[in-house]
Amino acid sequence: MKNQIRSLLYNINKYLFSGNKFYCNICDRHYRKFFSAGENRRANARCPGCGSFERHRLMMYFLEEKTNIFSDNLSVLDIAPLKTFHKLFSKMKNIRYTSIDLEFPYVTLKADLTELPFQDETFDCILCYHVLEHIEDDIKALSEMYRILKKDGWAIIQSPFDKTSEQSLEQNDVITPVDRKKIYGQDDHVRIYGRDFIKRIESTGFVVNEDDFINKFNDSEIIRFGLDREEIINFCTKQ
Ligand SMILES: [Zn+2]
Repeated sequence: MKNQIRSLLYNINKYLFSGNKFYCNICDRHYRKFFSAGENRRANARCPGCGSFERHRLMMYFLEEKTNIFSDNLSVLDIAPLKTFHKLFSKMKNIRYTSIDLEFPYVTLKADLTELPFQDETFDCILCYHVLEHIEDDIKALSEMYRILKKDGWAIIQSPFDKTSEQSLEQNDVITPVDRKKIYGQDDHVRIYGRDFIKRIESTGFVVNEDDFINKFNDSEIIRFGLDREEIINFCTKQ
């Protein structure tokens, strides 16, 4: 029911906020306003018509320009996807699309990222956006993704991280939602990654290319497309 109400709201917003100032490449519509979002109310973050955030829109541009996902025959695993992504990728004829989550009702199957029900080397690509900061054993999750990825496959693995901190902030005694909110800024986060995030990904076998693709956009495009100038894409490969 909650999902139906949300879909209805998005459909109303598409007309209510229609305009020329912003463009969302996920729902392919123009708007007069993007919503602010997050704890620190990031300006122009959320699309009123599909709920996408800056990271989703940047990923779509990246996928279109720098990957083979729209051209080749691929098996794709999407972890905890935005519903709009699930719908879009499900319709694509060139890919075999599987989405997983423990709670979202619309995904292909319910599965735990630390214990994936797939054989070794099943997928050509994996999308993992803002998931690992919710998972206690993130190394196990990363190892599982590496295991099920085919050789020469690729994964995009993003999580919010604190660039000012060398080490991730992770305390064994922070376990209640109240404490997590206080220490990590969100009640379902189990750490704040520091700059060691990349090393954690690499420790499981991935080769990580930190791609500054965002720099191809000029300042007015950053605003118009609702992107985050600071976002680097972790393009991870299994070699
Ligand atoms: Zn949108």
